[in-house]
Amino acid sequence: MQGSGEPSDPFKAQLDQALKEGYAWLRFSPSLEAAYQRDKAPERRRTLERGGLWLVVMFNLLLVTDWMMVPDQMGLAIGLRVFFFTGINIVGLLLSDYFTPRWREWSVVGMSVLAATINVVLCLNSTDHLAPPYLIALVMVLLFNGSIVRTPFWKALLIDALVIGMFFGSLFLLEAPQWNVMLSLSLILVSTAFFTLYSSYVLEHEDRTNWLMQGQEHQLVQALNRANHQLERLSRSDALTGLANRRHFDEFLAQLWQRARQSGRAIALLMMDVDHFKAYNDRYGHPQGDTCLRQLGAVLRRQLRRPGDLVARFGGEEFVAVLHDAPLPEAMAAAERVRLGVQELALPHEDAPGSRQVTLSVGVSSCAPQRVASPEALIAAADAALYQAKSQGRNRVVATVPEAPLEALP
Ligand code: GH3
Ligand code: MG
Ligand code: MG
Repeated sequence: MQGSGEPSDPFKAQLDQALKEGYAWLRFSPSLEAAYQRDKAPERRRTLERGGLWLVVMFNLLLVTDWMMVPDQMGLAIGLRVFFFTGINIVGLLLSDYFTPRWREWSVVGMSVLAATINVVLCLNSTDHLAPPYLIALVMVLLFNGSIVRTPFWKALLIDALVIGMFFGSLFLLEAPQWNVMLSLSLILVSTAFFTLYSSYVLEHEDRTNWLMQGQEHQLVQALNRANHQLERLSRSDALTGLANRRHFDEFLAQLWQRARQSGRAIALLMMDVDHFKAYNDRYGHPQGDTCLRQLGAVLRRQLRRPGDLVARFGGEEFVAVLHDAPLPEAMAAAERVRLGVQELALPHEDAPGSRQVTLSVGVSSCAPQRVASPEALIAAADAALYQAKSQGRNRVVATVPEAPLEALP
């Protein structure tokens, strides 16, 4: 079943339209029809191959009828049934791989007409008094199409029309048929055609309806999956900055911690806090404060873009970054990049003592998870480093390792 499932997906629109408007003529719009045929092709192929095998058996079984009703044609019957027809059928089955689905369906029409023609030839050649009623063997062709191969309605109609035409055409070529018998037989043939065509119409209509409904269900599941992904994404991101939110950070750190315990590689944490942000809000207003946070978020994203790392809003005007496989010097370099990035942004902050612009303090910590009890210890260390950065004058990077302060920058 194709279609992307987008609300504007033309495939979905065609599905809906087909279900709404109906398809009394058993035909969809061209692209929907092509998709239907494509989806059905494997099942049709199995049905037709199985049908081909049954056809060989049944068509040869009719030799018994030949023997009883047109015994003078036994030689021809064996030649046509056993060698000619069976031969073509078996070659067709062996070459089935090379047939397109369309060809396969048309081969059913071809084989049906051929089977009917063989029966007509045997009948017309025979001088036996049972030759005329022998024509009723044509009913087998209709039954075979209506049941075993479940030929699609329009092709079944074509086959039935040709077979009935052959039947009535033969009536005029028969020598002295008994008209009362032949009339009864023609009624049997025509009513069989009617019944089998009726059921093939109903079955095909139902099959098409089921296919359309499955298609709609598939589209619905896709739409739900998309909505779920969207929700999942929203539940893990911060609305203001678009960065990961606290929940996502917690999950991410826990997972990374597990992996790093096995690999023995270091995990680093950058805890970042905007300096004098309360004063910024007081001076420029909360909305401008929000804009500032968004701009800082963009700087963080730009400066910490190594795949596999995570930048999140920790809460309020605090941000956090988790860097995988990052020993302390590397983590400090990354933190310094961020600090400088914010400084280069040069957002005015008249009430920031000294710098007169928005700045960031960063606490850095790094450890190999085997040597530290928990992610919380790493967070606490980064937090302690941030506290030191603040108390040492802000706009700086300070690093510690869990339990042991290491060095301060700049
Ligand atoms: P320090 O340099 O010590 O970090 O001082 P500070 O003023 O930045 O720290 P403090 O914790 O006193 O103030 C944080 C401020 O951040 C207070 C709060 O109004 C502001 N804030 C927190 N979340 C948001 C937010 O989503 N939008 C805006 N505009 N302001 C926020
Ligand atoms: Mg703070
Ligand atoms: Mg602050």
